[in-house]
Amino acid sequence: METDTIAAISTPVGEGGIAVIRVSGDEAVPVVDRVFQGSRSLAEVDSHTVHYGHIVDPKTGKRLDEVLVTVMRAPRTFTREDVVEVSCHGGVVPVQAVLEALLSAGARLAEPGEFTKRAFLNGRIDLSQAEAVIDLIRSKTDRAARVAMQQAEGRLSRLIQKLRQDILETLAHLAVNVDYPEYDAEEMTGRLLLEKSREIEKAISQLLVTARQGRILREGIATVIIGRPNVGKSSLLNTLAHENKAIVTDIPGTTRDVIEEYVNVRGIPLRLVDTAGIRETEDIVERIGVERSHKALEQADLVLLLLNYGEPLTDDDRKLIDLARDYTTIVVVNKTDLEPKLDLDEVKRLIGDHPLITTSLKEERGLDKLEQAIADLFLGGKAQSADATYVSNVRHVHLLERAQQSVRDAIEGIETGVPLDMVEIDLKNAWQYLGEIIGDAVAEDLIDQIFSQFCLGK
Ligand code: GDP
Ligand code: ZN
Repeated sequence: METDTIAAISTPVGEGGIAVIRVSGDEAVPVVDRVFQGSRSLAEVDSHTVHYGHIVDPKTGKRLDEVLVTVMRAPRTFTREDVVEVSCHGGVVPVQAVLEALLSAGARLAEPGEFTKRAFLNGRIDLSQAEAVIDLIRSKTDRAARVAMQQAEGRLSRLIQKLRQDILETLAHLAVNVDYPEYDAEEMTGRLLLEKSREIEKAISQLLVTARQGRILREGIATVIIGRPNVGKSSLLNTLAHENKAIVTDIPGTTRDVIEEYVNVRGIPLRLVDTAGIRETEDIVERIGVERSHKALEQADLVLLLLNYGEPLTDDDRKLIDLARDYTTIVVVNKTDLEPKLDLDEVKRLIGDHPLITTSLKEERGLDKLEQAIADLFLGGKAQSADATYVSNVRHVHLLERAQQSVRDAIEGIETGVPLDMVEIDLKNAWQYLGEIIGDAVAEDLIDQIFSQFCLGK
């Protein structure tokens, strides 16, 4: 059991006039008391009260900062442990000094997310909420933060609970049939069962649809820029990044881009990648072969294929188009400021349904169209709605997929007339997988308990 006392700065560093350091654990009060100078010892004060004083250096006795200390004793706290919050005067230096004083007084520096983990372990929040808080800390854009925030507030938990309740009710209908086969409602039960199961399956599917968007919001769209030497790949990277991290050069083939850059496009994080396999993207087909090029591109969520408006299409261009056609690709025809030499009609014919954008990175034209195309591709349609509940966690997605499969098995079972106790097993499995999402480990006994009540009432 983790009972040691942890401390960390819980407000953003370097912002605002006040910073809060949170201390949690069995020894939270004595630890702070060791470096706190006020009118009373913190050991004597009531819970949930605020006290004025100073934090002093435990070795020299020197005053480090003027503070307000809030003492909150378990269990009415975020972690359900004793918690002390020290509000100091902000600014990186005094805050660090106070934190160091607390560490030398016996606290340990908290790991990222550790307060939240304790809140979960102590039953204060459920697992999906805990995971959401962690996502929130890591989220790369405002939009991602909003999704995580909704989840932390329990939106997903409530949806999952509702689904589980539906499954329980369905199971209850089943139980009547399994336990009392002579019961005359059998026919109706079968039809009702099918209807209910289909509704549940649909609801799970809808949640899963959001999973891709959720992952994208959390991890960023893995984006690969490909194109012949000198078409403007580095320039595009630079323009997107609004800073000069990649090296731009006039000599074809000499670019050595510094890669893995996050950029924020209309609230979606774009992760511009260059994995080992895709470095020197201009000649990937030649260098690593068609099959391996496909493997390399498979890791990308988005491929940006650049062509040069000022030059006729080459065989290498055609090879790249051929390669990129199988992926989520946006074709970017760059250098529209140059005299047109590219046969745009041929390009359009070759790329089929993929969007085509024209840009002049030199004259800074067309970038907004490109950004809009990216936003349309990844947050198109109703997924953009602010109150969609995104499933943004890999573990949740896997469990939802399993639950969905179980419900599908149940539906198939009902349709093909397998014994109802087999269907019952499938639905119980679905119920359990959903339960794992919110960290609910109780299974068999609770089902039994609910059933016994239901059947008794009949
Ligand atoms: P890469 O080899 O594909 O990475 O291409 P770079 O980004 O290094 O660009 C090659 C050259 O093309 C550089 O001199 C850029 O300044 C130039 N360039 C990039 N975009 C444009 C554009 O839209 N118009 C013109 N005329 N030149 C461009
Ligand atoms: Zn380059």
